[in-house]
Amino acid sequence: MEDCREVVIGYTTHRFPADIKYFLVTFVDLLGVLRSKLVPTSAIKQMLEKGAGFAGYAVHFDMTTADADLMAFPDMSTLIQLPWKKEVAWVASDLYINGKLFKQAPRQVLKDQVAKVAKAPKACDGGYYMKTGVECEFFLLSRNSSSGSKPEAADAFEIAPKPCYRQGALMRSFDVISKLLEYMESLGWEPYQADHEDGQSQFEINWKYDDCLRTADKHVFFKFMVKSVAEQHGFQATFMPKPFRHQTGNGCHTHISVWDHNNSTHDETCSTNLFHDPEKELGMSKLSYHFLGGLLGNAKVLCGIYNPTVNSFKRIDGQTTLSGSSWAPNIISYAGNNRTHLVRIPDEGRFELRVPDGAVNPYLLQAAILASGLDGIENQLDPGPRRDWDGFEPHPDKESLDRLPTNFLDALRELSSSNFAKQSFGEEFVKSYVKVQMQQWKSYAAHISQWELENTLDC
Ligand code: ADP
Ligand code: MG
Ligand code: MG
Ligand code: MG
Ligand code: MG
Repeated sequence: MEDCREVVIGYTTHRFPADIKYFLVTFVDLLGVLRSKLVPTSAIKQMLEKGAGFAGYAVHFDMTTADADLMAFPDMSTLIQLPWKKEVAWVASDLYINGKLFKQAPRQVLKDQVAKVAKAPKACDGGYYMKTGVECEFFLLSRNSSSGSKPEAADAFEIAPKPCYRQGALMRSFDVISKLLEYMESLGWEPYQADHEDGQSQFEINWKYDDCLRTADKHVFFKFMVKSVAEQHGFQATFMPKPFRHQTGNGCHTHISVWDHNNSTHDETCSTNLFHDPEKELGMSKLSYHFLGGLLGNAKVLCGIYNPTVNSFKRIDGQTTLSGSSWAPNIISYAGNNRTHLVRIPDEGRFELRVPDGAVNPYLLQAAILASGLDGIENQLDPGPRRDWDGFEPHPDKESLDRLPTNFLDALRELSSSNFAKQSFGEEFVKSYVKVQMQQWKSYAAHISQWELENTLDC
């Protein structure tokens, strides 16, 4: 690294660019909210040795005001120098409490799954690791629509009934989108396309898949970057699952493959995609179909993780939009290159899980996929037949298929009573997650909405 400074902690030397003056020492809580402290470079050694202290009760964790501080230890391998503010570096941290790993920390939950899968009963030496790519859709809103008020699309001009891929709409937001592409390129993320999506002022930017922990860290940073750049241009970006009743919601489709663990560098030239088998149906291996069995078999109980807000269920419950489709299936089935089922196989050697939405916690998303896939592999689960019909239209087989829960309360009940979830993530974690999320449900249930007044006042 050119012109760098270093901090030595024990036997480890951490190097970082010399123009960094501050570190954002960050973590994500149970609801996926990014929390941080700004630390001057002169104090980073201290943070690496002792951690940055946070009061856990003040954020979304199942903690009390009397609990000891959470200590965030920066993981310097995640360091990203902000492309728009070079004097600041962002780092993801690992959380400890009373000298022990904090089990509720979403990043830790994912790391535990990664470690489990690396040791799984295997088809090759060294176990597996998962690579994923996320499609984080977002809307650009006018800044007038501040949090809580009625959102307004940034581009009032764009009112086409089928706005997807419209060049005019894309180019009217060129300044924001091209800046994001430029930054991602400078970070080495290998972005390859950006487009206007199916909702008014809705966008998606795709970059190359990576090891699931790295994808999760990038996912957290991507949301921060999109919101920051949008603000610099006078807009607000939202990843809210369904901000507009008549528009397609914000999904977070996740593409998945599993690789052998023969080399720790995860270099594609020496490791193999174990999902790929050109001899098998749609180019997907036997192992991948077991993984798929787990993904589908556990989708219902993990829905409260993939879709972690009250609002999420307005997206996946398939309400028709102005464009004609919600693009968000709620029957539990899979297909080939067909976007109307929960899992799509767009290409040989990977699946696309279409259920997660923009509110998903980036770490818990990957942890949920990994845990279900491992369950499928270990128990040799069968995903059943592929469905080649249109999942949004009536079909004789449709009634026999299982469905996702239709509201957040049902999803949380599924999760809290699932032995699979308790075994995979630990009973304590599931209890804490559900407890924190139930506060959201209770607050929503207590709210008297405009709809209720319109429909019930004159009863
Ligand atoms: P879609 O057709 O669903 O819109 P996109 O091109 O928007 O697909 O996104 C595809 C995502 O899948 C990208 O993040 C890409 O890097 C990722 N991807 C491609 N191949 C693999 C693979 N083998 N494993 C995991 N992810 C992959
Ligand atoms: Mg204080
Ligand atoms: Mg896409
Ligand atoms: Mg999309
Ligand atoms: Mg997709």
